[in-house]
Amino acid sequence: MRLGIVGGGQLARMLALAAAPLGVRCRVLEPAADACAAVAAEHIRAAYDDPAGLRRLAEGAACVTFEFENVPVASLDYLVDHAPVFPSPQALATARDRLVEKTLFNDLGISTAAFRAVDTREDLDAAVTALGLPAVLKTRTLGYDGKGQAVLRAAADADAAWAALGGVPLILEAFVPYGREVSLIAVRGLAGASVFYPLTENSHRGGILHLSLSRANDPMQAPAQEYARRLLNALEYVGVLALELFEVDGELLANEFAPRVHNSGHWTIEGAETSQFENHVRAVLGLPLGRTEATGAAAMINFIGHMPSREAVLRLPAVHLHDYAKAARPGRKLGHATLCAKDEKSLRAHLPSLLALAEGDAL
Ligand code: AMP
Repeated sequence: MRLGIVGGGQLARMLALAAAPLGVRCRVLEPAADACAAVAAEHIRAAYDDPAGLRRLAEGAACVTFEFENVPVASLDYLVDHAPVFPSPQALATARDRLVEKTLFNDLGISTAAFRAVDTREDLDAAVTALGLPAVLKTRTLGYDGKGQAVLRAAADADAAWAALGGVPLILEAFVPYGREVSLIAVRGLAGASVFYPLTENSHRGGILHLSLSRANDPMQAPAQEYARRLLNALEYVGVLALELFEVDGELLANEFAPRVHNSGHWTIEGAETSQFENHVRAVLGLPLGRTEATGAAAMINFIGHMPSREAVLRLPAVHLHDYAKAARPGRKLGHATLCAKDEKSLRAHLPSLLALAEGDAL
């Protein structure tokens, strides 16, 4: 059985590594010569919108999926004529546009920060008046890892924010004074059944995910699942979906969803009965879904911009290293490590050594 993946980065690599034991071979479409997924998958080197590359990706594939949101929707529309595509192009199109996404959330009774569409400088003033300050101005599409965003704290910030972002469709959101950021990794199979992982608590640095902790018995698990279930069913979704949420005063506000496997679910590789990657492969190929229970406590830390010494990480007990073998660049995700422990107390005891390595400190 073959699975096609648009994109050849670390997410495609971890999908391919999870697919192999199931007897599923992966082929990835990636223009970069040094596709990090190529260690585990056949690499088609072509642009994401190259028809010959897309046809080759679909050829003999039981299904085509994708590893990132910025795949041209037209490419998926083209692929649909050659192979089943999951998640659907419609799910991708919804997730790509923050205005469409937040409007759907609200239509489904999923709470969000108050928001307004902003297309002109006048719209920005009107939105600031309607929502108040502070507020966050974001591009509607192509934003990721905090890029394409500006926080407005005072009315005088509007000019600079407009100068930085104006000219493309924007959205202004009320600033959420959140206590925590959490995400829910959800999976819906072809037949419509859904399973959910334990909630993950996330901290970001400079807009990039830094640390994820799996949460056993979190009080927000049930409301997060209820939100995710509505979204999965409304989109007739197939595959893994990550719902990112703010918790503020005991309430959840949805920020966005990713129609794909997600960085905040990497801990499931070693910390859950079935990883998010394996469950995505199972879901899109119409195979039975695997159990999502955590096998203990887990923490995942990203290595951003620099990789710590392999020896130093491997010296730490119960730490699993994932080196994506990518060239180092500031702000680039180069790898991650997951620390597993039998319970939260033991996890907290071991975490500081791993955090120190990620900071670049010598142990
Ligand atoms: P996003 O690209 O929407 O995931 O935003 C990146 C990060 O910016 C989030 O993880 C939050 O830490 C922060 N952020 C985004 N939107 C808001 C908001 N409306 N209020 C407060 N913080 C936000």
